[in-house]
Amino acid sequence: MSNLYADIIVNISHEALDRSFQYRVPPALTDTVGIGDYVSIPFGKGNRIIQGYIIALSDKASIDGDRIKDIQSIVKDSSLVEGKLIKLAFWMKRRYGSTLIQALKTVLPIKKESRHKEERSLSLSISNEEALKELKLCEKKHHTARGRLLKALIETEEIEYSLVTGKLNISSATIKAMEEKGIIAVNSRRIYRNSKVSLKDHKNIILNEEQKEAVSDILEEMDRGERRSCLIHGITGSGKTEVYMELIERVVLKGKQVIVLIPEIALTFQTLMRFYDRFGDRVSTLHSKLSPGERYDQFERAKKGELSVMIGPRSALFTPFTNLGLIIIDEEHESSYKSDSMPKYAAKDVALELARLHGAFLILGSATPSVDTYYEAVSGRTGLVTLTKRASEGSKLARVKVVDLREELKKGNRSVLSTELKKDIEERLINNEQVMLFLNRRGYSGFVSCRACGEALKCPHCDVSLTLHKNNKLVCHYCGYEQDYIRKCPNCSSSLIAPMRAGTEQIEENINKLFPFARVLRMDGDTTRKKDDYDRILSSFANREADILVGTQMIVKGHDFPYVTLVGVLAADMSLYANDYRASERTFQLLTQAAGRAGRGKREGKVLIQTYNPEHYSIVASAHQDYGEFFENELAYRKFMSYPPLGHILAITSESSIESKGRVYLNDLADYLKNDIIAKGSEKWIKINPPVECSIKKIMDIYRRVLYVKSDRLEMLVEIKDRSENFIEEHKEEKVKISFDLDPVHGY
Ligand code: ADP
Ligand code: ZN
Ligand code: ZN
Repeated sequence: MSNLYADIIVNISHEALDRSFQYRVPPALTDTVGIGDYVSIPFGKGNRIIQGYIIALSDKASIDGDRIKDIQSIVKDSSLVEGKLIKLAFWMKRRYGSTLIQALKTVLPIKKESRHKEERSLSLSISNEEALKELKLCEKKHHTARGRLLKALIETEEIEYSLVTGKLNISSATIKAMEEKGIIAVNSRRIYRNSKVSLKDHKNIILNEEQKEAVSDILEEMDRGERRSCLIHGITGSGKTEVYMELIERVVLKGKQVIVLIPEIALTFQTLMRFYDRFGDRVSTLHSKLSPGERYDQFERAKKGELSVMIGPRSALFTPFTNLGLIIIDEEHESSYKSDSMPKYAAKDVALELARLHGAFLILGSATPSVDTYYEAVSGRTGLVTLTKRASEGSKLARVKVVDLREELKKGNRSVLSTELKKDIEERLINNEQVMLFLNRRGYSGFVSCRACGEALKCPHCDVSLTLHKNNKLVCHYCGYEQDYIRKCPNCSSSLIAPMRAGTEQIEENINKLFPFARVLRMDGDTTRKKDDYDRILSSFANREADILVGTQMIVKGHDFPYVTLVGVLAADMSLYANDYRASERTFQLLTQAAGRAGRGKREGKVLIQTYNPEHYSIVASAHQDYGEFFENELAYRKFMSYPPLGHILAITSESSIESKGRVYLNDLADYLKNDIIAKGSEKWIKINPPVECSIKKIMDIYRRVLYVKSDRLEMLVEIKDRSENFIEEHKEEKVKISFDLDPVHGY
């Protein structure tokens, strides 16, 4: 008799995942069954034959042997996407460490109760000519929101209601007013809903030579089938999106489906419309504003074959397409593609595995590829095509100049603006052009410290510096703790206590003082608390309702601003001092993206990078706009330190409300792992660092410690993770939570 047992779920729902049934695999099937297989089983008292999915296999029975029934047969049906998704979940569980249930819940489209909201859309009730007249009127009266909507509706017949209020940022009051005036109509159902592939006539963009070559190279690569992925390295504005769309069209015409990942923050209304224009109602989007029910509905439409293209953030990967042909990850270097809850997966790697399961192809696109991806490309494991020119006519790359702030200090200039930047801003204001000022604060907050003893004021719960707000409150950005600004140091009683350096708020104030007539907008974590704030500020700036936009790294993503001719980077160094190995990479990416914002229109752009570190290779290379130069320097550093992509890191963290418990448990785990690798003789390949406090040692009264394990061989780290899971299984401790993060994208 066989002693292989299978855990089977009989439908895809929350309850089913938590309650699987065990069956025996009959001898005839032991060689063929696998995770994700769809099988027929006798079920219940009457042994009714039903179908279910295998989610786990083991050689131990969890119930009495004689009560276990046998699987009847394996159902071969390649159109069943759930089986592939279960296989994917299993791969993720093994690779990143999590429970099977956590992985399944991440991956499977789980039914949620949803009140069916009616889909609404907007269209014009007047002719295009009348609408154009109306548009002129709006422009004259500075009715920018109305103008924006009219323009969009002239270009695109019909637009989903939620897109108009969301991405286009038009209030429902404005919509109502325009409806009452008989200019637009609110339709209670979307008009077009044919489920045949019908590509709309899109505006005729003829691909340039570089783009054509990229398309044909990639098509060739896909046909050849030797490699499963290709990187498109193309400067900002080189027309990557057009290349994606051309490739998507080819794949869709073959009856296959496409998943496009775009970081939500970079997905603009214009980009969305380009997709809708071209693919009509065969395309849909996922975004954070959807309720779980609406999300599930989108997944159902995908499964039924109503959709060909799904655009969304990393979770769009799990769209249940039955015949997936292509996955595209735009801005592949973005850190939002790494999940921060278990399983802490990297979308890029999961996409590759998914492509393998479907026999599909993966395209990664970026102007500043991650060092990991570029390394894959130069070593030939991933294809590589490059786009070197800006695609739209007349648009040129900006001039980039570095200003040494140390020299400014020597000259006695202590303000946040160098003499040159100040002069340049004045010029732009006179010419009626726009300016973006970018404060690179990644990992940095405007903290308050004592000049006498050097202590910074910290949150009593989180061990992070408190940030000073304008209302004279000191606020913790992790837990929201708030206290009044104190005038005396709690440590040494000195009154030499003062905020360190400027935040965006102070810069805005400064600019207002220097240029009292300029209209200034600010965008940072504080001004974008509500979901719509981000889109509202950017569209207002795009409508030229302001001259200067001051902001953090958020302002450098997406969006074309043709009237921006000057981008000032106020302190390029701040992100160089973040405490993880990707700090230089991130600095280069941010600076290059910032530079990409200038001169998107016909006018020439200029970028000024202010820094105390003009010699640092990240800064030098971004001034030269030379990715290769950056990559070579960075790779040398990674090699020297055995950091990814040349080595790998597994971060094992402990979290506990009782400090000693977390500490002891993680120490014990480290000892166990050490003994284990010594016993196996693999200590040459694996380095286990002593566990340490996280750089933020406490968040919301939970103590955090981290243990870093390093190895050049990824598989060995996966094994270390498996061993740790065994340890946790054998030493149950409810007061301590252990998490795994393979090749983390931020420091702990
Ligand atoms: P990327 O995704 O590389 O930043 P986009 O595809 O968004 O670039 O293209 C940048 C701009 O250039 C867009 O406004 C786009 O419409 C335009 N564009 C792209 N390809 C062409 C082309 N072949 N001819 C004319 N304009 C183009
Ligand atoms: Zn002090
Ligand atoms: Zn706090």
